[in-house]
Amino acid sequence: MARESLPARIAAQRERRAAEQRIRVRRSVLHRDGARCEVMGADGVPRWLLNFCGNDYLGLSQQFAVAGALQDMASREGAGGVASHLVCGHHAAHEALEREVAEWLGVPSALLFGSGYLANLAVLQALLGKGDVCVQDRLNHASLIDGAQLAGCALRRYPHADPEAALRQLRGWPDGAALLATDGVFSMDGDIAPLKQLALVARVQRATLYVDDAHGIGVLGEEGRGSIDDAGLDSAAVPLRLVTLGKALGSYGAVVAGEADLVRHLAETARPYIYTTALPPAQAAASLAAVKLARREHWRREKLAALVQRFRAGARRHELELLPSDTPIQPLLCGAEADALAMAAALERQGFWVAAIRPPTVPEGSARLRITLSAAHTEADVDKLLDALARARDYARAGVFATTA
Ligand SMILES: *Cc1c(COP(=O)(O)O)cnc(C)c1O
Repeated sequence: MARESLPARIAAQRERRAAEQRIRVRRSVLHRDGARCEVMGADGVPRWLLNFCGNDYLGLSQQFAVAGALQDMASREGAGGVASHLVCGHHAAHEALEREVAEWLGVPSALLFGSGYLANLAVLQALLGKGDVCVQDRLNHASLIDGAQLAGCALRRYPHADPEAALRQLRGWPDGAALLATDGVFSMDGDIAPLKQLALVARVQRATLYVDDAHGIGVLGEEGRGSIDDAGLDSAAVPLRLVTLGKALGSYGAVVAGEADLVRHLAETARPYIYTTALPPAQAAASLAAVKLARREHWRREKLAALVQRFRAGARRHELELLPSDTPIQPLLCGAEADALAMAAALERQGFWVAAIRPPTVPEGSARLRITLSAAHTEADVDKLLDALARARDYARAGVFATTA
């Protein structure tokens, strides 16, 4: 028998990753306090850092009404989800959240999922199959790629933010159903998809446009309705969209919102909806409180936008080269992985937590610091980060990292 040994294979793979410095480690957070968090160091000593790599854009994750809603519901209804939605897990708290999101976004229908990752698997798996095509931006989130694989449809990826390429790919697949899927705000780049043009492409090609608005919801548009509202589009142009609750809304879970027939089809047939336990009602209550705050508290978006502008203006002064982005995701391109890692380490020594994002999460040669801003930051926090970034960059240029990193 020539069967390959699984343990031997994964050991060899790990050695290769180690040689490429691609071992991923998790860092334990001991406490969070707004934008500050206490993190366990590699030396076993915890340290407080100013966090610039979370997705809590509106600063809602520790807002007292959000945490309080979770606490209240948990004390009455318990901690668990009990069963899947179609058995006996569906709770009035889930439905209240779905109604609120649908009303907020001005769409007929909404369905709550365990997470954004599951929701993307569900949408693609339930809508597409063999003979169909899913056309996607090359920089789309991994969950959209995985969803297409689960669906068993053809997957075509077009160059980033290129609607004409999307059009060509749809033309090249004239038979079978077509879904055109894009991130609304690209998670590692921070730029906004050309949604108006993509909507036009979808219309002329009779494809269904699906927008994953994980990073746009709460942040962009009137009342934080996201990138679709920001582009002046409605649910006729975008029949289905993903709203995640774990980022700007500071909670957990995700909602797919849009046309009633499509949403009902998901609820009745999508495997990642049916074969999983419902979110705890307490989590849904927290999300509902967060949505209400995100809609009403415009100052969070205004403060965030002002911090983004302040950061970009400061970066220009310090000659730090940011990718073009007007969203809270402000990547600083490093190119080489070692440079991104060294910059992140230098920032940590100065008290800042910024994630180095490396391949395969981003394309080869485009390692970066993914800096994210939040309404929980202050202007002084942003100014201090800029100084620290400039210092880290100057060290890198002087080649100091070789000895200190
Ligand atoms: C985070 C993210 C998801 C997954 O959402 P979770 O709720 O974290 O599972 C999906 N799409 C994009 C673009 C994301 O950034």
